[in-house]
Amino acid sequence: MDLSGVIRTIPDYPKPGIMFRDITTLLGDARAFRRAVDELVQPFAGTKVDKVAGIEARGFILGGAAAHQLSAGFIPVRKRGKLPHRTIGVEYALEYGTDAIEMHADALAQGERVMLVDDLIATGGTALAAVDLLRKAGAEIVAAAFVIDLPELGGAERLRAAGVPVSTLVAFDGH
Ligand code: AMP
Repeated sequence: MDLSGVIRTIPDYPKPGIMFRDITTLLGDARAFRRAVDELVQPFAGTKVDKVAGIEARGFILGGAAAHQLSAGFIPVRKRGKLPHRTIGVEYALEYGTDAIEMHADALAQGERVMLVDDLIATGGTALAAVDLLRKAGAEIVAAAFVIDLPELGGAERLRAAGVPVSTLVAFDGH
């Protein structure tokens, strides 16, 4: 099954020049959704994964399903100000300005083995910030998995350079 065929592309969204890769069409297709989650977790079957961390918001859907399949717990990594209990956070640079992500300070125990999941890796800024945050909380990052890679933006390479094994399912040219 060709997963790239069930991902919808919306040109010039949210701004001119961006090709937005919309996974809602993949999620709405039962076979494609199952296949994507199977392929995300397949390399880690037989590996001990304590927790899957998903990045808000699309990483929650894929990460939740992956956690269930791996019999692992799930950790939501959220935008600043969304989590109700005591949090730890990191700031990361955007094209203009900065953003911040947070997780609950008690979401994982020292040394727990964590797999990071999101829908797409572009520059890798978001995923690197999440790795930073999870490591600060004591995680051993065993892998990061994404449905979509935009290799021209170099995020997967950046993540590998930070010592994180990366797996992706489909790649698209450009931004
Ligand atoms: P980055 O931090 O540059 O790797 O961007 C990754 C984050 O931004 C992910 O959470 C993606 O969901 C979102 N994102 C970036 N570029 C796109 C794109 N072309 N289409 C859909 N989502 C994108």
